[in-house]
Amino acid sequence: MNLLHPFRRATQFFGLIITNVYVAVIYQNQIYTGLFKSVCLPFLYCHSCPTAAFACPLGVMQHYSAIHQFPFFLVGHLMIVGLLVGRMVCGWVCPVGLFQEMVYKIKSVKIDIPYYWGVLPWIMLIIFIIILPFLTTEHWFSKLCPVGTVTAGIPWILWNPINPTTGAPTIEPGSVGWLFALKLAILGVVLWLFVVSKRPFCQYICPMGLFWSFFNKVSIMKLKVDDGCTECNLCQKKCPEGMKVYEDPNMKDCIRCLECTDCKHIKLVSALPQRELALKKTTRGGK
Ligand code: SF4
Ligand code: SF4
Ligand code: SF4
Repeated sequence: MNLLHPFRRATQFFGLIITNVYVAVIYQNQIYTGLFKSVCLPFLYCHSCPTAAFACPLGVMQHYSAIHQFPFFLVGHLMIVGLLVGRMVCGWVCPVGLFQEMVYKIKSVKIDIPYYWGVLPWIMLIIFIIILPFLTTEHWFSKLCPVGTVTAGIPWILWNPINPTTGAPTIEPGSVGWLFALKLAILGVVLWLFVVSKRPFCQYICPMGLFWSFFNKVSIMKLKVDDGCTECNLCQKKCPEGMKVYEDPNMKDCIRCLECTDCKHIKLVSALPQRELALKKTTRGGK
């Protein structure tokens, strides 16, 4: 049995747990604002979620746009991760990736999203992460992000505890209006896309995915397909993103999940020095 697949699931669930460890919110009725809230994990989650313990990198980028500064430390540490493993955090830790893979298992008509949707992450990054926060000081991506709607907007509205600092309900009466309706509409469309298409949020919306996509070709860890490939496309069927890995093993949308390495012709290799990793052997229990 290939232990790589259950191990990847385990690390994805670990990503879900680590971003939601602030269970004290149940009796404190307030979002965590301690030391860890100034630390970013390198993937997408909402830092306004009641149980969130860390800051979302996209939220921090918007904050820096709003105060007209560049997030050198954040971008620097993300670049180090990218240069080491490329887009691997998307395949191994991000809970939004896990959720999309689970929802795609729902039986339904599946569709191919037109390639030109690939411009959307650029729009999200340039307009909603940089320009609009820069001009208005508002965090526009976070305002509309469907991940935020699921993990922060809806839970807070349903729970609406009394804030111990102000003595008032967390959500003021009458404050839920057209913006929340718009968020729900976006969420509905995105959830439908999750069912009918492979990881659409990662491929066509997430600016973090766009950021990571620049590193697959330059990272130390790389995928390699050898000459024995017969183009049978079994790897494409297993791939959470539907990629033909033999066309370009280090293409930008590859999340380095390694699901395709079931095929003996695909290996994860290190560029420094050039030798195949023992990962495949060890995860197969030496088989
Ligand atoms: S591209 Fe997908 S897996 Fe990567 S950070 Fe964004 S939502 Fe998560
Ligand atoms: S890499 Fe392997 S699974 Fe993929 S097409 Fe080639 S032979 Fe088939
Ligand atoms: S090409 Fe392989 S490593 Fe890349 S996303 Fe597809 S299955 Fe995962």
